Amino acid sequence: MSKVKVRFAPSPTGPLHIGGARSALFNYLFAAHEGGEFVLRIEDTDLERSRLEYETEIIESLKWLGIKWTEGMEIGGENAPYRQTERLDIYKEYAEKLLQNGQAYYCFCSEEELENERWAMMEKGEMPRYSGKCRHLSQAEIDSKKAQGMKPTLRFRVPSHNVYVVDDLVRGKVSFESKNEGDFIIMKSDGLPTYNFAVVIDDVLMGITHVIRAEEHLSNTPRQLMIYDALNLKRPEFAHISLIMGSDRQKMSKRHGATSLIQYREMGYLPEALFNFLALLGWSPEGEKEILSHQEIIEAFNLERVAKSPAVFDLDKLNWLNQQYIRSKSISELESILQPFIENTPFAESIKRLDEQGLSILIESLRDRITSLSDVGEQAGIFFLEPSYEGEALDVLAGDSARQVLEKFQASLPFFHDASEIKQFMKTLTKELGLKPKDVFMPVRCALTGSSHGPDLAHLLLVWGREESLRRVKKCLDFISNRDNG
Ligand code: GLU
Repeated sequence: MSKVKVRFAPSPTGPLHIGGARSALFNYLFAAHEGGEFVLRIEDTDLERSRLEYETEIIESLKWLGIKWTEGMEIGGENAPYRQTERLDIYKEYAEKLLQNGQAYYCFCSEEELENERWAMMEKGEMPRYSGKCRHLSQAEIDSKKAQGMKPTLRFRVPSHNVYVVDDLVRGKVSFESKNEGDFIIMKSDGLPTYNFAVVIDDVLMGITHVIRAEEHLSNTPRQLMIYDALNLKRPEFAHISLIMGSDRQKMSKRHGATSLIQYREMGYLPEALFNFLALLGWSPEGEKEILSHQEIIEAFNLERVAKSPAVFDLDKLNWLNQQYIRSKSISELESILQPFIENTPFAESIKRLDEQGLSILIESLRDRITSLSDVGEQAGIFFLEPSYEGEALDVLAGDSARQVLEKFQASLPFFHDASEIKQFMKTLTKELGLKPKDVFMPVRCALTGSSHGPDLAHLLLVWGREESLRRVKKCLDFISNRDNG
């Protein structure tokens, strides 16, 4: 096999979606596994829908995910330019060839005429397609229409009875009959190529050996094969990967929640978790292991293990993976990636005021409790909100010994420096009070936080420091006194 070369060729008509990201990833993994090349090309010939900001966002999303290309946008290469609107002369040249050898022809039909034609066919119960009206215009007719200022499109003359077979690396042999295709447009009247034409020219000129893309493009493949054949160009291999579905087995859409990669970044998913998750969306390595490093995935990746059936997007699995990756971070790594999320919480200022130890204890405590980085607001609250005494906490504080426990805690809490000192103190306190550990820990926890559950008690105390811890106990004792006197 010649050296593998693949491409990802997004149209910048929206943000990079989960499906697009998965196609990009499979291309990247395949190229990396095979020691091949990976081109990033932008297909922006739909001028109305293409936007530069989407192009920028797509590129940013790919980089964030950890996908690297070896040629194309931003880095250049021997086949530059990589934005289709900058390659119009190239498409023109190939369109000219097809025109010269009679495999393409000018079509002057107006939108209105075509629309009427489509309706007429549908009324007769036929599949709407181009009737071939302009197939046989004479040169004189063409010249005259052009002289009248009419701007033609260029249509591909579809052979009448050919069968096109693609041996798809994922789907197996798929065949298409040309009689089902009408003559299709390859160049629009404004001089821009259509997707099916430009994609073939670029894939050939850029030396693409494998086209790996979403299943929804399978129906475009016969048109592309016709162009390869008409120009006598070598076809690449094709691999069409299955759709991604929501848990209700419907095609993944906004109804199922976030669909763009940037949204996942904003929700606090780690790129490593998404990389791992997307790799397993329609591909599986041998064995049971689910948490795999980039290198492990690259080493194991092949198209044979890409599933034919649709992949189901399982958010619980993504959450689980994200949690695992968060837990594998060091405190200092997590601190820096959490920073932008902390900024968005009401506790940003309080967190800034923590000393180094307090901050790292807070991060350590959060590490065990968050599923995504954006959970930080919810999970950090217990450290910074003023406790109020309600519900279960109120019941605990109404217990016989609560007041005694808190008074002794207040009277004997020493200066402390680390978790072991706090643990030792609580042990001694329990012993001296002659109570069950639960009857000491619960009132203390409820008094300090207003909640019967939450982070490790030592973590809480270390983040607050002695003074703040004592202030909270006093607050609770005042509350109990007021209640008892009231
Ligand atoms: N521009 C097309 C898209 O974004 C690329 C399809 C292909 O890979 O051939 O869907």
